[in-house]
Amino acid sequence: MAQRLKTVLNEIAADLSDSHDWGKVADYIPELAAVPKEQFAIAVITKDGQCHSAGSAQVRFSAQSITKVFTLAIALGRSGDQLWQRVDREPSGDAFNSIVQLEQENGHPRNPFVNAGAIVTTDEVLAGRAPKDALAEILGFIRTAAEDDDIHINKSVAKSETEHGHRNFALAHFLASCGNLKNPPDMTLGTYFHHCAIELTVTQLAKAGRFLIGPGVGPKMVSPERVRRLNALMMTCGHYDGSGDFAYRVGLPAKSGVGGGILAIVPGQASIAVWSPGLDQNGNSKLGTEAMQRLAHAMNWSVF
Ligand code: GLN
Repeated sequence: MAQRLKTVLNEIAADLSDSHDWGKVADYIPELAAVPKEQFAIAVITKDGQCHSAGSAQVRFSAQSITKVFTLAIALGRSGDQLWQRVDREPSGDAFNSIVQLEQENGHPRNPFVNAGAIVTTDEVLAGRAPKDALAEILGFIRTAAEDDDIHINKSVAKSETEHGHRNFALAHFLASCGNLKNPPDMTLGTYFHHCAIELTVTQLAKAGRFLIGPGVGPKMVSPERVRRLNALMMTCGHYDGSGDFAYRVGLPAKSGVGGGILAIVPGQASIAVWSPGLDQNGNSKLGTEAMQRLAHAMNWSVF
């Protein structure tokens, strides 16, 4: 398999770098708007620990919403099923930063991956602590999962999003008005913006995702039952209102971020990370999705 995987990854990277349409970088966070979009990287770690990559696998990118998988794992570890009294587990069928849905549903976010749900999840992780302590736990979790301490928060990205995060402030204040925020909105959002600003390479991200492959793979981070549940949420909600299309085209649980990264899991087999900063209309990496589709097809990887 190793040789085949290597060949497939190189073919995908070569073909996609000739693309004519790279999508559109996120422009509502100025630091992300400045990232050149014609970049591509992919890495796969198989269950036996072998790592293969192609493209700009040494370049760090902003993980953004992919960090929501890790904060969700931490929140469930801290407060168990109590989180589900504050957030639902249904696909949203709406944009990741939708305000209208939150109002219609009385401040109860659809799922932990849309922004409103992730803000509540971060609020649960914060739990009255200083933001720096919660951030140390989040960063520590990702470093332990990746077995790599060279993973950091990009403070300029966090600052840039704080200065332009009006929509997230609106969501946080609306949540607070409904009694669904335990900490002051500024504190929860500060923590949220900072964990979204964690940056890593595709290799580091694929390594950090190993615990989601299944029992006995990578460092033990959460119980096998929780691994299955995290994968279920990634499959149904990980790409916002593009989740159905991603499931149809790729067939793997995955989480995207507006930095252009995607983490996908082949249960029992592998962890895949891809990065290309240009996004599609749903805010998911355009070429990243194409690469995942090609890789899953070539390797015959699907949960279906
Ligand atoms: N930090 C980003 C935001 O809140 C994360 C969104 C995303 O990656 N989809 O808008």
